[in-house]
Amino acid sequence: MSAAQPFDHVEPRDHTLDACFLGPYGENDTLLEKLLVEFLRDHVYWRRNFHPEDPPAIGTGAAHHPDYLAFESRMRRELHQLSAALKKSVPFHSPRYIGHMASDLLLPGLAAQMLTLPYNPNNVSEDAAPVTVDLEVQAGLQLARMLGYPHDPAQEACAFGHLTSGGTLANYQALRLALALKAFPVALRAAGAPELALPADDWSAFNLSTADGIALLETWQHWLAAQTPAQRAHWLHRVENERIEQLGLVGFFAAHPSLRVPLVLAPVTAHYSWSKGLKLLGLGRDQLELLPTDGMRLNPAALADTLERCARERQPVLMCVAVLGGTEYGTIDPIDAVLAARQASRGRGLDFAVHVDAAWGGYLATLFRNEDGSLRTREEVAADYVQFPTPAVHAAFAALGETDSVTVDPHKLGYLPYGSGAFICRDHRAMTLLAERADYVFHAATPAGYLARYRSLGQFIPEGSKSGAAAAAVYVTHRVLPLDHAHFGALPRATVRAAETFHARAQRFALELADDVHALVPFAPDSNLVCLALNPCGNTSVAAANAFVRELHDTLRCDPHQPLQTKEFFGSVTSLRPDMLGPVQTSRIFAALGLDTASLGPDEDRLLILRHTLMNPYLIDHENGISYIDRYFDFLGRRMRMLRGGATSQT
Ligand SMILES: *Cc1c(COP(=O)(O)O)cnc(C)c1O
Repeated sequence: MSAAQPFDHVEPRDHTLDACFLGPYGENDTLLEKLLVEFLRDHVYWRRNFHPEDPPAIGTGAAHHPDYLAFESRMRRELHQLSAALKKSVPFHSPRYIGHMASDLLLPGLAAQMLTLPYNPNNVSEDAAPVTVDLEVQAGLQLARMLGYPHDPAQEACAFGHLTSGGTLANYQALRLALALKAFPVALRAAGAPELALPADDWSAFNLSTADGIALLETWQHWLAAQTPAQRAHWLHRVENERIEQLGLVGFFAAHPSLRVPLVLAPVTAHYSWSKGLKLLGLGRDQLELLPTDGMRLNPAALADTLERCARERQPVLMCVAVLGGTEYGTIDPIDAVLAARQASRGRGLDFAVHVDAAWGGYLATLFRNEDGSLRTREEVAADYVQFPTPAVHAAFAALGETDSVTVDPHKLGYLPYGSGAFICRDHRAMTLLAERADYVFHAATPAGYLARYRSLGQFIPEGSKSGAAAAAVYVTHRVLPLDHAHFGALPRATVRAAETFHARAQRFALELADDVHALVPFAPDSNLVCLALNPCGNTSVAAANAFVRELHDTLRCDPHQPLQTKEFFGSVTSLRPDMLGPVQTSRIFAALGLDTASLGPDEDRLLILRHTLMNPYLIDHENGISYIDRYFDFLGRRMRMLRGGATSQT
């Protein structure tokens, strides 16, 4: 076996990873089984020990009754059918799966979730979840630390994070919070709140920085607290009546005719959850302005131009979104440049929130964190890789701590069960504006006060009832694998390395097949998602290239009508749209593939490409000296030759 070692260099094995997952073969079955049995028994003892004097309500003979037996047999039958049907599931656990953003589940999270399920905590509030609400708030602080946000609840300006059903809802929460904070100073002015240094006009009130907005909110709350109860109720009522949350968008902007409805700026690569978010908020998609990119990374010059135009036209901006790990191409926006553009815009009186959509790439931040929480230098990080991280990627991660809020999906690169998204804001004090019940209650800035406030989680989140088991899974995973490079980082490290190997192999593949097919990695991967554009040699038409990739993809995707085992590999597709790419990138990519841009038309307005998400830590199997990356490219080469052969024999 070792003679066939396909690896260029011998890497030290990281044996921690061995215990992390159930494993591609189910290698850790006894470990998971032991945990499940142990904690199921534990749960049963807990029930029995609640009031041990209460006798069993279900008789010991119940299990022999025909109705009981009939129920059991119906249940078994349905469960068997379900289990049989689930065999058609997508094999996310396998190193042959390099399709979408899914992989095996981390054992600590899976076990914590299963162990918590029978207790069924509801994290809407502590009344229904005395334990897991705290765990959720702690998980938020764990993520805040990973991002470089203040994470000590004894500090006034501590971050706050909570879980959501996914990144979509976390992005929506970011919109809600930014809008609440922007509109609040305008409401204070409208209510004529006394004794406060209020901005001179609606425009400047709507353009306070996040920090100034929070400072004003704090001053207002302190002023309120000093009033008599009657005065307090009077002013609270008056201000509440002017708030956007009370008036709605229509009422609010009608009351402030000098203010235009704000825009949300995002790169063209932004996930479609942003469109959903704007619809949900009632702002409407027209208010989502998509900015051009440079190699699928937000173009800072275009952002600067847009901001200049907005300032000139007095067009408010609610938020600028930067994507950290785009869903389609894995690219990372220059977050540092977005912050710099905002700084420049401040000088022109136009201010807005900066939110990072790191639903995909959030956990890559662990690679940039030392165990003590400090940032690792680019050189320190780079020691583990060939090219990662580029200076731009390092600068983006280094700037995370200066942004206002971030979306992270524990159910993506956190390897946890659905649905676990997370929303984290840098300064928790703005959250009070989202509270369903005006919660101007004072809590000293102490860990106890902080926790007590957020135990009524349902007050602040978009959802109501929600899974406490999911929170337990996130928290326990972050405890077992702390969010720094030495612990959790082992996972993204393995996958970013795999992506570098994959990228190099793709380039060799392009040379090997040069006589048959033009193959191109359209953008050097920023992280662990690698795309591959393909076009049969001699073809210049986009329609034919797309037909070729579509046929290839048919062999790489799930097909519920065929046994799973007929599939050798799973991949996914995405497309390159010239309107998203811009003319320079479009001509570069089309020229390299031998495609004629004139063959683009209304029916074929984009180029299909293969997309590979490399999450599985066993893509390079050191135990057996197998590289699933090599095997994948062998497979791809075989399929392509077959498709080409088929195509020529037909003509
Ligand atoms: C996946 C993803 C989302 C949406 O997250 P869900 O968990 O699917 O709701 C948003 N933004 C980006 C960048 C994503 O990758």
